[in-house]
Amino acid sequence: MDQQVRLTAKGFRWFQTGHPWVYASDLREVETDQPGIVSVVDHRGKFLAKALFSAASKIALRILTPRNDDIDRNWWKEKIKRAIVFRKQLPIDSDAMRLVNAESDFLPSLIVDRYADFLVFQTLSAGLETVKGTIIDILEEEAAPQGILEKNDPAVRGLEKLPEIVDVARGSVPETVGVREGGLKFGVNLRGGQKTGAYLDQRDNRFLAGRIASGRVVDVFSYDGWMACHTARRAESVLCVESSDEAYARIRENAQRNGLEKKITVEKGNAFDFLRERSDKREKYDRVNLDPPSFIKHPREREGGLRGYKEINLRAIKLLGEGGVLITSSCSHACDRDEFLGLVEGAAWDAHRSLQIFHSSFQPPDHPVRTVFPESLYLKTFFARVI
Ligand code: SAH
Repeated sequence: MDQQVRLTAKGFRWFQTGHPWVYASDLREVETDQPGIVSVVDHRGKFLAKALFSAASKIALRILTPRNDDIDRNWWKEKIKRAIVFRKQLPIDSDAMRLVNAESDFLPSLIVDRYADFLVFQTLSAGLETVKGTIIDILEEEAAPQGILEKNDPAVRGLEKLPEIVDVARGSVPETVGVREGGLKFGVNLRGGQKTGAYLDQRDNRFLAGRIASGRVVDVFSYDGWMACHTARRAESVLCVESSDEAYARIRENAQRNGLEKKITVEKGNAFDFLRERSDKREKYDRVNLDPPSFIKHPREREGGLRGYKEINLRAIKLLGEGGVLITSSCSHACDRDEFLGLVEGAAWDAHRSLQIFHSSFQPPDHPVRTVFPESLYLKTFFARVI
């Protein structure tokens, strides 16, 4: 028998919205102080769901299923298999992709990414951490990788009172893993890179950006240069702006791997300074890509974050001549599509230009979204011509 967790009446009403999290303030009685798998019951004691329980976190429960299933090895195996089979049905022109997207794959707090023959995973809650060994076994059986890396360094692990762990869990994992994406080759540092090694969620934007590239391009917030390489295939030149030393070195390596080193130059530094200086000098380019990190990671950062988005978009628009193209993204869940669009339009207004948006997107299909879990819809991108 699993331990029981009883919700308050308010917690029950929240549960009925279908959102996969229940907050600690919505629990009435908890039979355990240990993280793990629990049965959730309503304020009258009626069974509601099986869930992962985190004793230390504000997010106390992560709902696994509204069915009274045994959450055993088989259960995890079926869910993980289902996520992997779904990716096989998607037309992804790459061997790097997300296999498990946490709550959106009904596997709360579990991230699994594939990089060619290697897997990287993150277990981001104390409840899930208790079944980590089972999950690693299943990943080995279902995906037969040469190596599995545990990349458990996101800050959210701290909120769960979990330690930071970056370690090989199975097999071996080389320093640099080679992957391909749409005819290009990239080297990924799974251990030391950002996220699980790359920004897989920008794949479809990179494809379209590459196909329509021309002229002189500035790629701001370049990371390892994947966007820059796609763009450089057709553009005359791409100027990358990136603040991280490690990413800076990998942009050069990736450019060389693809024979694009003559077209790609890299400026190491702060994107805000770069955009201000170049727009003050009235420099002009044919295209600006903007793919910043999230400026709003906490509600208290909202105002400053929105100002940041507006500022970089304003400066980018000023750098574009007639017919120039802006490709602009925001990965902050707290700034939704309409708000982001309003910001970008506001930036164009301030720059005395008009925008003609010709493409917009959310994250690609290997990063699915559940409408009951708005947090899962985070990446918004607009492609716009400046008139
Ligand atoms: N467009 C990339 C992903 C960009 S991720 C791709 O398609 O793969 C955001 C990048 O911005 C990271 O590499 C991060 O190191 C960099 N960055 C964060 N703050 C910055 C700043 N103020 N100036 C320049 N680069 C910054």
